[in-house]
Amino acid sequence: AIEAKQVHKAFGDLHVLKGVDLTVQPGTVTVILGPSGSGKSTFLRLINQLETLTGGEIDVDGEMIGYRWEGEGAKRHLQTLNDKQVAAQRAKLGMVFQKFNLFPHMTALENVMEAPVHVKRMDKKEARTLAIRELERVGLGERLDYYPAQLSGGQQQRVAIARALAMQPEIMLFDEPTSALDPELVGEVLTVMRSLADGGMTMVVVTHEIGFAREVADQIVFMDGGKVVEQGGPDIIDHPQEPRFQDFLQHVL
Ligand code: ATP
Ligand code: MG
Repeated sequence: AIEAKQVHKAFGDLHVLKGVDLTVQPGTVTVILGPSGSGKSTFLRLINQLETLTGGEIDVDGEMIGYRWEGEGAKRHLQTLNDKQVAAQRAKLGMVFQKFNLFPHMTALENVMEAPVHVKRMDKKEARTLAIRELERVGLGERLDYYPAQLSGGQQQRVAIARALAMQPEIMLFDEPTSALDPELVGEVLTVMRSLADGGMTMVVVTHEIGFAREVADQIVFMDGGKVVEQGGPDIIDHPQEPRFQDFLQHVL
């Protein structure tokens, strides 16, 4: 589970997140909607410790990220975790970005094997078996030896998903995974995401794909101005209460 409590984030004078509370239950899909600049990416990046909190707390699996309490009584204080502890927490999370950022000089298979071999120190043969399995899972079992430039955008994004899955995360974070794709390639990526959700993966997805949100999400969160403005089941898409959410939906639908 993920539990965000009164999360604040400022970049200098720019107060981007202004007290976000959110709970993501294991095995569920949360879709975050919101206009540009509302803080969606910043929130995902905080969960994955690519940014540090200005205030509040985020727990993953009941464990506070980035910090731990030390000392007793009046001496009790927060201590930042060391790099190794942060890495262990981050290993629970897989992240997929709008830009796939595959290594251009490596094949699909090598891209997926990279982190298991170099981060987890997995033996190469084992990593290869794992990578093949993950590429098959995203429908790319026939493209193992293709280089990114030889793959379509949709295929490249599916390699990026397989690459994240190869680290066997408990939770997957997606930041507009289909926004950079030609419209005809969006469906194949959403299909892979849907099958992951059906398999019980815990997912947080920032997307403008309202159809996906309506069909796959257990929870919808609408953010605007650094706050959660409306939140509920997928039915809120068809019955938005807040004027800002109504207005947003009119523009994306
Ligand atoms: P989009 O839909 O365009 O991706 P978003 O909801 O993901 O938008 P964020 O990327 O989280 O929005 O950005 C929220 C605000 O924080 C923006 O005003 C952005 O310019 C600012 N911001 C994000 N990252 C930084 C940074 N590293 N330094 C300074 N400002 C930042
Ligand atoms: Mg963003």
